[in-house]
Amino acid sequence: MIANAPQLPVIMPASTNPANEIAKKLTGRDYVSWSAISTFRTCPLKYKFRYIDGLPEESVSAALIFGTGIHSAVEQHFQAILSGEPKPDLDALLFTYRSAWLPHDPDAISFGSSETRVSLDALAGKMLTAFLNSPAASVQGRVLGVEEEIRGMLVEGVPDLYGRVDLLTEDSDSLVVTDIKTSRGKWSQEQVEDSGEQLLLYSHLASEISPGKKIATRFLVLTKTKEPVIEEHVREVEPGNVKRTLAGVERVWRAIASENFYPAPSAVGCASCGYRQPCAEWRG
Ligand code: SF4
Repeated sequence: MIANAPQLPVIMPASTNPANEIAKKLTGRDYVSWSAISTFRTCPLKYKFRYIDGLPEESVSAALIFGTGIHSAVEQHFQAILSGEPKPDLDALLFTYRSAWLPHDPDAISFGSSETRVSLDALAGKMLTAFLNSPAASVQGRVLGVEEEIRGMLVEGVPDLYGRVDLLTEDSDSLVVTDIKTSRGKWSQEQVEDSGEQLLLYSHLASEISPGKKIATRFLVLTKTKEPVIEEHVREVEPGNVKRTLAGVERVWRAIASENFYPAPSAVGCASCGYRQPCAEWRG
């Protein structure tokens, strides 16, 4: 129960959290990811197809591959700062971006009505140029990790949360947990607040790295607009928001553990879902 949730994360070996065994029996993985929790909240049946049944998706959206490519390119930039190597130039970042397309069957990629591979490549060039020319390409303080693995028990009765922090930095008085995003447009304040739960959980786990320091979450947003904009949204972590998020995670896990799976159709969610066929055939 959330009333018993620890005030600080309990980083512990996977085998000592009893809920990990239940997760392993259900999904084959002895942990939960934020992506899994978020998928269940969007559509419990989609969660079942992906994480319980392990069904391959019929298609993958170009927007998803594009976002992955930009994400990898920006991480490459920060990885060079972390390791003290020369920063990669635009061509090197574009090479990394294009690599994200290679594993995918071109016939299984669904493009938006005005998108092509060529138009997205051009957009990637503009976004990465804007990023390299922005203050966000520099680091305040020092880089502690890029794509840093993080794992720990958040709430009793819930399997360990496992994830990767895009960028972890620290300055003299704060630890900053950054998530890199691509977006159709600039983010509103509401969007920053609505998107913060994953970072709250990661920051909760990461707080053990630098005890006594303030913890902040930061979204680094690259817009896919005609003239790309690089935004930074930084917020100090509020304990009340962490508790609320932990309570939500606990309820979601209870529903997963009781195998309560059902379709939750929505215009936006179903349009990009890779399980439309098995969903149409589902009869309970
Ligand atoms: S098509 Fe819609 S309702 Fe069906 S699994 Fe996908 S998201 Fe859920």
